[in-house]
Amino acid sequence: MDKAKEKKPFAGVPHHQWNDWQWQIRNRLANIDDVIRVLDPSQEIIQGIRIAVKYFRMAITPYYAGLIDLDDPYCPIKAQAIPSAHEAEFSEDDMVDPLEENHDSPVPGLTHRYPDRVLLLVTGTCSGYCRHCTRRRLVGTVDLDFDPDRFQKAIDYIVTHPEIRDVVVSGGDPLTMSDEQIEQILKALRSIPHVEIIRLGTRTPVVLPMRFTPELIEMLRKYQPLYIATHFNHAREITPESTKACAVLADKGFPIVNQTVLLRNVNDCPHVMKQLNQKLLTIRVMPYYLYQCDPSRGISHFRTSIGKGVHIMEALRGHTSGLAVPAFVVDLPGGGGKTPLMPNYLLARSDDRAVFRNYEGAITVYMEPHRWDGICGHDPACSQERYRTQKGPGMLMTKPHTVLEPQKRSIDPEIV
Ligand code: SF4
Repeated sequence: MDKAKEKKPFAGVPHHQWNDWQWQIRNRLANIDDVIRVLDPSQEIIQGIRIAVKYFRMAITPYYAGLIDLDDPYCPIKAQAIPSAHEAEFSEDDMVDPLEENHDSPVPGLTHRYPDRVLLLVTGTCSGYCRHCTRRRLVGTVDLDFDPDRFQKAIDYIVTHPEIRDVVVSGGDPLTMSDEQIEQILKALRSIPHVEIIRLGTRTPVVLPMRFTPELIEMLRKYQPLYIATHFNHAREITPESTKACAVLADKGFPIVNQTVLLRNVNDCPHVMKQLNQKLLTIRVMPYYLYQCDPSRGISHFRTSIGKGVHIMEALRGHTSGLAVPAFVVDLPGGGGKTPLMPNYLLARSDDRAVFRNYEGAITVYMEPHRWDGICGHDPACSQERYRTQKGPGMLMTKPHTVLEPQKRSIDPEIV
């Protein structure tokens, strides 16, 4: 028996309906009355929803609602799904578009920030609205449908930029769209010879695992290599249903990676994070990124210090399998991009030695080789490529550059 189905209003729902993803979307908990009917929450929760929905919309699939445990004050599913009064506490550091995705957008719906990859936003609709969503400016208010004209402009841009070899299809959640619409997108991308890989950014394995029908899987298989980038934040989201969805994907050859957001009172604990990443590996999902929570509007109550993320990385690296250690990144406000952070392991270095400490605190010397001839730069094509594409401090590794001067981009005019 599915756990959520045991909840009273869903007890009589036939199995075939419960496992129908469109039924799940049609029957989302989308307002206070739905939450009262299904979850029988406290007055405090009801009041919190009343305040938050003045600013941001809500939706919870019946499946995900069934994972909520209102007896647990720190229920991670409740925190991610049920609106709270904290969402109306706007901080002075909050930003509408903290990653400046709109700034780096040559055509609407497409962000081209990094040299060889783009982010393509195809819908503003999600099956559930995460309370910590960083794209609230797009998905937090009304459903935005797929726009064929806008999409065609994005495709035209990708066609004329041969350096783009990786396209992240996201939104919203692209798997809320029909199979036909998804195929239209994938077909257009696959017809571009220089697009080598496609990534689908989706939370459906977590909040709507019944979405992975045999028909959808067979259609997606035509467009490999296709990576699934999903978003588990807590081990309690790994259920028999989400496990089955990931198994179907993995069995059919889709690599699955996970992007966790570091969230206060949800997963800001080394033990919780280790358990999540270890369990993800058991369902064949690779921990990929651990994101510092962005300063988006109305989510400051979810933010932790950056030090908490570094602390968690300290507790993971060396203490569990390297496969279970994601990269901790801060997506720098103002469009600075994903910047990795690790605890410091290199303590000192000289010409001939590097001094490290390991995860246990043991200090060890690595002797540098006396003589080292590498191949890097020997190939003329390599040299040209290096001079042409290096950016940032990497430029100083190439001979023509000796000085790196800041360019204009800054979000704070006073420090330019
Ligand atoms: S599924 Fe993704 S885009 Fe949609 S609300 Fe959640 S975090 Fe935001």
